[in-house]
Amino acid sequence: MNIIRIPVLSDNYIFLLHDVNTNQVAVVDPAQAKPVLVEIDKLGANLVAIFNTHHHLDHVGGNKELLEHYPETVVYGGIKDKGRIPHQKVFLEEGDRVEFAGQKADIYFIPGHTYAHIAYYFPPVDESGWGELFCGDTLFAGGCGRLFEGTPTDMVNSLTKLRNLPDFTRVWCAHEYTLSNLKFAITIDTDNQQLHKRYQQVIIERQQNIATIPSSLQIEKLTNPFLRWDTPTIKSAMGFETPDRVFGRLRGMKDNF
Ligand code: ZN
Ligand code: FE
Repeated sequence: MNIIRIPVLSDNYIFLLHDVNTNQVAVVDPAQAKPVLVEIDKLGANLVAIFNTHHHLDHVGGNKELLEHYPETVVYGGIKDKGRIPHQKVFLEEGDRVEFAGQKADIYFIPGHTYAHIAYYFPPVDESGWGELFCGDTLFAGGCGRLFEGTPTDMVNSLTKLRNLPDFTRVWCAHEYTLSNLKFAITIDTDNQQLHKRYQQVIIERQQNIATIPSSLQIEKLTNPFLRWDTPTIKSAMGFETPDRVFGRLRGMKDNF
């Protein structure tokens, strides 16, 4: 399975999964149809699946037009997004599995950004390999999504599920927010040397218009304050002890940053 990253709109990424054996493709969160159709044409491939993480327009905006070109395409999404994702056919719950390119992805129910949000996780195919996590707007590189339809507790529970995945997991999040996320992070986790190093790297990468996605769970666990609500540094910076209050304060500060 090859993963192709397509930048669209101001800061969205669409991910194309290409099965090189069958020349079939699946697409994760098509904000728009046109750029996806162009890539599929280049590959001479056939679209068979749309994997949506949640119902926001910058994730499902291309569904309708893609279906017009590839009527057999199956649209997947969370069960609680029923009625909110255009042309949805499959309604997924935690623990479900979906198959693409002979690989099975585990579905995680990760509410917080929206109440219906899900993630798709493809475990590594062999012991030395990487897993691939498509987490939409829940976990970002250096940050997390805003709480539009959920509480800090929801988000802590959701991010706990993602944090429990192996370090060698590529994080394919849906927005290029890394620089502004890290700019905030260094004001909180002030003495984290790995964070400062990452921030300096990302400044250079963004100056050269290099994508910072995918990230890895290993680097996120070390430097993303939204995965570190239980570290002494973040707890004392927020002045709270319990995960929901630490996280709630942190998210609130980022909202106003
Ligand atoms: Zn969203
Ligand atoms: Fe989004």
